[in-house]
Amino acid sequence: MALRDLGAEVRAVRTAVDLDDVRALVIPGGESSAMLRLMKPENLSHKIVERTRAGMAVLATCAGVILLAQTVVPTQPSLAVLAIDVERNAYGRQVCSTIAEVDLSPDFGDPPRMEGVFIRAPRITGREASVEVLGSWGNDAVLVRQDRVLAATFHPELTGDRRVHELFLRIGEEANG
Ligand code: GLN
Repeated sequence: MALRDLGAEVRAVRTAVDLDDVRALVIPGGESSAMLRLMKPENLSHKIVERTRAGMAVLATCAGVILLAQTVVPTQPSLAVLAIDVERNAYGRQVCSTIAEVDLSPDFGDPPRMEGVFIRAPRITGREASVEVLGSWGNDAVLVRQDRVLAATFHPELTGDRRVHELFLRIGEEANG
């Protein structure tokens, strides 16, 4: 596991009570509609919104980004804590899964690019000024940050480059003083 390799203590969050035990949260890839259903009965989603608004560090990847987005196409409920618009499965069948070079913001240092594994990825079709683009693939923003929320439409855990997770841990440390 990427975060454990970097020395972080990791545990699973399945219920609203589990969330009390963690200082930062990863919302992974998967299937966003199924994840929404799983979050419902426990009211986990409500608590994630509350904690995120209060400044918890969050790393969302792929389906996790869809869950956080303010609007989703085709229409789907979301937590709406990240000021981006996304379109699900927007890259179509041909690039349903692909590995592409992501151009990184200079803050990441060398090398200036990172391999991005895209698996039925959403496309970020719009964003507010509060959302900073940290990585792009062609004209598309694929790694963005808003306050302490870091969101990648690709899967940084599937390659060896740990710079996204390192940044997430730094954001988490900053959040917890
Ligand atoms: N296509 C999925 C969804 O819409 C996301 C895919 C992924 O997380 N790799 O939820």
